[in-house]
Amino acid sequence: MTTDPKLTKLRTELDSRRSRHLYRSTRVADSPQQPHRHIDGKALLTFCSNDYLGLANHPDVIHAFQQAANTYGVGSGAAHLVNGHSRPHQQLEEALAAFTGRERALLFSTGYMANLGVVNALLNGRNDVVYADRLNHASLVDAGLLSAAKLIRYPHNDTHHLGKRLLAQEGEGATQLILTDGVFSMDGDVAPLSRLAKLARHHDAWLMVDDAHGFGVLGKTGAGLVEAEGLTQDDVPILMSTLGKALGTAGAFIAGSHDLIDYLIQTARTWIYTTAQPPAVAAATLASLQLVQTEPWRREHLQALIQQFRQGATQLGVPLMPSSTAIQPIMVGSSAKALELSRKLEERGILVTAIRPPTVPVDTARLRVTLSAAHTREDVERLLDALSNSFLKSKSYR
Ligand code: PMP
Repeated sequence: MTTDPKLTKLRTELDSRRSRHLYRSTRVADSPQQPHRHIDGKALLTFCSNDYLGLANHPDVIHAFQQAANTYGVGSGAAHLVNGHSRPHQQLEEALAAFTGRERALLFSTGYMANLGVVNALLNGRNDVVYADRLNHASLVDAGLLSAAKLIRYPHNDTHHLGKRLLAQEGEGATQLILTDGVFSMDGDVAPLSRLAKLARHHDAWLMVDDAHGFGVLGKTGAGLVEAEGLTQDDVPILMSTLGKALGTAGAFIAGSHDLIDYLIQTARTWIYTTAQPPAVAAATLASLQLVQTEPWRREHLQALIQQFRQGATQLGVPLMPSSTAIQPIMVGSSAKALELSRKLEERGILVTAIRPPTVPVDTARLRVTLSAAHTREDVERLLDALSNSFLKSKSYR
């Protein structure tokens, strides 16, 4: 082993993570994204995908991808403003704007980049302020940290506290932005959007909602939490969602007014200076957006599975969190226990990943169960059965 001190330092940090049960590693899947998969050579029933509607492996989506690859090739070859913007990108942006009831939409290659790009484009002065929910996704936290603005993190969903912080900053003439997840990615609960919209209006602040886990799933037509709450572009002027979750593909978009999108095209560095996503991904996303609209049964079936899981788990005494979405975490506490319980489920052929710090706060490690319309009632029964057999009988759990 090399004695290079730089590498020794890295190894020490890796060892420390192992000893604190915080070391992470990838697994290798040899089958498509779907509940029953082959991972690391094992047949597993998985409950940890964000493919909430079961579209990642849908034949129409695959077909659209293949057709577009035949027409447009694979790589987009350049950033959107250079010559990487092709017809499927344009069609998808128009379709996303129409679907979300916004004037315009702009595609980003990932959600992480969309969040960094928007916040850095809108807030560039030292007097500007970003107000971010404490449980926001890492990409929103980083967006605030990397901007020149002051970052104020408010207690989870505490609009009273946020209101006081907004008042304290008033009168400085700076740009203010309230930043929140729609559905919180590790807890599954939702942001109080109406109250946030009211505060934003009152204090003349922007409101940006990252609806990565609500888009496609919530609302009558699947347009997300903003639709479910009966809000419009006036209430939530900056709507962001990823496309790699319910839509089953990859990438992200920002939807909003003409002026907002035009401004982002001129200034959002993570959009300007990066290669456009492959056109075939945009074409596949158009196909899945179509399915979101024409197959509402997917949302209904998912809701039924959520009810089934919550009822069954509650009867078993499993500690669920107050979530009515497809994200149904089981709170465990210590990272070691969460890992052990995850291993026990895996011995029974079920994969639920343990989520540990720093993804969640210290001492709140959990098993993040996610449900999908691709699951059957029998799949959920199997999960409940495994929970009652191995999980609840585990001494380490109690
Ligand atoms: N926002 C939220 C709430 C997310 O959960 C994620 C993905 N885990 C992202 C943003 C980042 O999106 P992407 O994976 O497209 O970079």
